[in-house]
Amino acid sequence: MANSTDRLLHVYFFPFLAHGHLIPTVDMAKLFAGRGVKTTIVTTPLNAPNFSATTTTGPDIQTRLIDFPAAEFGLPAECQNLEFISAHNKGWEGVSQFTRAAVALREPFEKLLEQDRPDCLVADMLFPWATESAAKFGIPRLIFHGTSFFALAAGDAVATHEPQNRVSSDDESFVIPGLPDEVRFTRRQLPSRQTTGNNTLINTNMVGESSSECFGTVVNSFYELEPAYADHYRRVLGRRSWHVGPVSLCNADDRAVRGKEATIGRDECLKWLDSKEPNTVVYVSFGSIVKFSAEQMREIAIGIEASECQFIWVVRECHQEDDGNNWLPEGFEDRTSGRGMIIRGWAPQVLILDHAAIGALVTHYGWNSTLEGITAGLPMVTWPVMADQFYNEKLVTEVVRIGVSVGGREWSVDGGGTVGHAAVESALRRVMSREVEEVMGMHRRAKALGEMARKAVEEGGSSYFDLSALIEELRSQT
Ligand code: UDP
Repeated sequence: MANSTDRLLHVYFFPFLAHGHLIPTVDMAKLFAGRGVKTTIVTTPLNAPNFSATTTTGPDIQTRLIDFPAAEFGLPAECQNLEFISAHNKGWEGVSQFTRAAVALREPFEKLLEQDRPDCLVADMLFPWATESAAKFGIPRLIFHGTSFFALAAGDAVATHEPQNRVSSDDESFVIPGLPDEVRFTRRQLPSRQTTGNNTLINTNMVGESSSECFGTVVNSFYELEPAYADHYRRVLGRRSWHVGPVSLCNADDRAVRGKEATIGRDECLKWLDSKEPNTVVYVSFGSIVKFSAEQMREIAIGIEASECQFIWVVRECHQEDDGNNWLPEGFEDRTSGRGMIIRGWAPQVLILDHAAIGALVTHYGWNSTLEGITAGLPMVTWPVMADQFYNEKLVTEVVRIGVSVGGREWSVDGGGTVGHAAVESALRRVMSREVEEVMGMHRRAKALGEMARKAVEEGGSSYFDLSALIEELRSQT
């Protein structure tokens, strides 16, 4: 039998088929590969090109493909990423078909495990069955939730204690019990009953079980951002976990190539940003899944224009396919020419956020975008829509205090009620203001967090240390 020191540790990564899951998992694979670990990412044929460009330059990362049984579940063959479901307005029925197709990946995935016999499996929380798959082959399964310690801790408290059932209306606030800070929530900020339990994108009970039964959790965060919640998750909830983020920082040299191919060239983008003064541009983007109504898009446009801010606004391709540009006020681009740019499609987000010209971002609070904004040292306008986004908002606005809220919001898979242009304008003016002391405090705190984020992944930093400890422990298991 080979001595454990004779061969490379081999880690398998299996991200869920959505950009917000694929992107950080690919980054994580790069981090492991950079430490001399053999890494394999398992995905489907149409998802592989979204990251192959990023994995050809660094250490060797293998890709293994399995077919996605879209047609068997009533979906078009080109539907292999959750983005397709929202872009084509397939609603909860589409999400449910997609989820069932994803569950059917179990058998082909286990065949790969049998063939390759890796030493460890890092699988997405949306594959709760992967804990059993790993056990079948006698290897540890790590779970990747793709969110903050804060959201993990808050989500656990809500699931366990159900404080939402002890208030009499959807607007009455309740304290989430047992957290290090007094965090208040309302039922409106939680998913409705239809979207939890068994009928959903995920079976939340199964996710909970697979989290507590697996080897541990890998978290894309850094200790200094949320120390009380990292400690709480480990010591109070008793979950073994390793924080290895911000994982986006592993792309120092090729920040322009991440996820899908950007629809604007790197040079064009940098040229535009270079022409702006530092901290004068606001970046507006809502990730890869949220699709707002045409009415909401119009309100955003009017608000951006009225704010007089310089801006980059990322508009997903689906808004053009379905609605043309009808939602865009006539003459918008002429009137904002020079001070603003719409990127239609996919933006090189991290490249943009890291540019000195950017002064703030407007985000839906997907954890990746949130953490990328924090890493870039930016304050933000908070616009949560669904998933873990309302928890992330609390972390940013109330715990680390670097966010301005766009106004009351409700958890919703279809973008929720419309936020009016006046609220958009006022939030933008506020976050970009250099006169309000409270906002200046946000800028200072955000900058300090950005510096801590960078230190965390450098040799000797907390995330660097945790990744070393994890690899060491996995090696000792082989
Ligand atoms: N992203 C990007 N360009 C875009 C839109 C998104 O690079 O035009 C990246 C973004 O940097 C982040 C991910 O896609 O890493 C989106 O993940 P997030 O958790 O923020 O939101 P989701 O798409 O899952 O809602």
